[in-house]
Formats: sequence, C-alpha cells, structure tokens
Amino acid sequence: MMTFKQLVLASHNAGKLKELQAMLGDTVQVRAIGEFSSVEPEETGLSFIENAILKARHAAQVSGLPALADDSGLAVDALGGAPGIYSARYADGQGDAANNAKLLEALQGVPDAERGAQFVCCLALVRHAEDPLPIVCEGLWHGRILHAAQGENGFGYDPLFWVAERGCSSAEMASADKNQLSHRARAMALLKQRLGL
Ligand code: IMP
Repeated sequence: MMTFKQLVLASHNAGKLKELQAMLGDTVQVRAIGEFSSVEPEETGLSFIENAILKARHAAQVSGLPALADDSGLAVDALGGAPGIYSARYADGQGDAANNAKLLEALQGVPDAERGAQFVCCLALVRHAEDPLPIVCEGLWHGRILHAAQGENGFGYDPLFWVAERGCSSAEMASADKNQLSHRARAMALLKQRLGL
C-alpha cells in the first residue's frame, strides 16, 4: 500500500482541481502544481493514459512530492472518439465556449440516437518522477450530446452532456451529485481502493 500525507495535483484546471479535492477529502493534503511551476509539459501521448503519466512525472519532478495527474476528455461516438485527448484544445485553445460551439457544429444534423458520448478520466499517481510502477485508474461516464447548451455548473463540455440517469445536463447537476456519478468520481473510487483510503 502507498502511504503519504501530501501529494501534488498536476493540473492548472480549476474545475478539475475543485472536483478532485472534494473527492479526496482530507485524507491527503493536496497541493497545486502552480505552487511549484507554471510550465506545462507538452502532452505528446496518443492516449489519456500516456498523457496522465507524463503529467504526473513532470509534477513529481518539479515538486519533489508524489504526484497525481488527471487526463480527461470527451469521446463522441459519431466523431470516432474525437475530441478525445484533444478535448481541452479542440478549438485551438480558444476556451470552453469555442470548444462547445465547434462540437455542436460537428454534430449538426446528427440525430439523438447517434449522439452517444463518454467522458473519460484517467488518473495516474507516481511516488516520484522515475516511478516504474505508476498507479493508473480509468473512469467512463456515458451520456449524449445535446443540441444546445444547458446549465451553468461544472466546466468544459458539461452544458452539452445529457445525463439520462438524472434527466438533465451535467452542468445542471449539483456539484456533489456530479462528484458521485462522473468519470472522475469513478476513476477516483478505484484509486482510493488501490490506495486503501
Ligand atoms: P486535460 O486538462 O488536457 O485533461 O483536458 C481536459 C478537458 O476535457 C477539459 O478542458 C474539458 O474540456 C474536458 N473535460 C474533462 N472532464 C470534464 C468534465 O467533467 N466536464 C466537462 N468537460 C470535461
């Protein structure tokens, strides 16, 4: 079992940080990567797993602490899994609203039955920068892409992600509820199991 009192979170994304912190609770003190470095490593991997490990190693290197990284995104069936690992930069770095507009455009005319999608979260934890045995946990959340944005909560593609279990978009869910159901919640539950937390 891996035991530690502190870890650094390899993310500058405030939305992710908030969700992961809420899920980890006070079992471990989570420190933000921004305390140590503002440089973001280039995400050169072709999969969520590769990018999560790469970000975790970088965070461990600059902080000297065990590091947790979250690589996540949205995989849309009708688009062959796009935007996938490029979710954050789908509209060339113009931000969430532009990403959502581009997604709606790409799915124009696609009927509901073919608008299936999943949020994917890959968490990677390394004890140190050269750790040969990272702990990697994945979580998926199945949903459907709406025809227009709905809701103000969450971040990223939440306003376009229809959650059938709740009959609303993930941006219309209370954060505590999203933190029980989401891809990130599922990956985190597995990680906590692995850590014996
Ligand atoms: P990363 O920071 O490179 O892992 O990119 C993650 C991107 O995926 C975010 O910028 C969002 O666009 C999207 N994403 C990941 N998780 C969520 C979520 O819970 N809600 C909405 N969008 C998400």
